[in-house]
Amino acid sequence: MNRYNRNILIEGLGKEGQEKLGQSSVLVIGAGGLGSPVLLYLAAAGVGCLGIVDYDRVDVSNLQRQILHYTNDVGQEKVRSAREKLTALNPEIRLHTYPEKFSQENAAALVRSYDFVIDCCDNYTTKFLINDICVQEQKPYSHGAVLAMYGEVMTVIPGSACYRCVFPSPPEEGTAAVSSDVGILGAVAGIIGSIQATEAIKYLTGLGELLLNRIFIVDARSMQISSLQVEKNACCYCQT
Ligand SMILES: [Zn+2]
Repeated sequence: MNRYNRNILIEGLGKEGQEKLGQSSVLVIGAGGLGSPVLLYLAAAGVGCLGIVDYDRVDVSNLQRQILHYTNDVGQEKVRSAREKLTALNPEIRLHTYPEKFSQENAAALVRSYDFVIDCCDNYTTKFLINDICVQEQKPYSHGAVLAMYGEVMTVIPGSACYRCVFPSPPEEGTAAVSSDVGILGAVAGIIGSIQATEAIKYLTGLGELLLNRIFIVDARSMQISSLQVEKNACCYCQT
């Protein structure tokens, strides 16, 4: 428990909260820019079981922001590179790796066996799928997105507003900006991923107030931070 001393000292977390973390499981979808800080912080904090979904391999262009992967990992499966780093950081936790695409076929089964889900993916199709499956399976999850120097994050639990309440449908193919055109600053992914990891730990330990019915927006260019109230949309998928 010495490893977790600075967690245990936090008011409202304590030994009890630490034990809860040890018994908890979190599914992280994407081991890239957001997934790197999320996985590092959750592993370090002692979340007992982490699932990692990513079918991609490490590319040299990932290294500027995906801090879980190093130069000698280029060409390697991201889940394998992630497993190596996280095991070295904290050998006390269990890791399950899924080198596959998160899809309509495997989504429900993957999500079901975890206590909390974190969206660290980089495309709208998967983001909407994660939202819909988590709403359907009544699984709490953290939405996060980052592009250039902008980031947004919100937490969704059964009964709260969901991602579709804010954005009813994905943007049309080819109309949305993507990181391969406008870039992503690694440190901004670090800010958003750190908030997602914080929300997961808060949910699992019952600590504090979650980012519910609010979307937290970071514009790192002007360093303006806002938290917009989100109404539960009466027409949304999450109502039925
Ligand atoms: Zn909704």
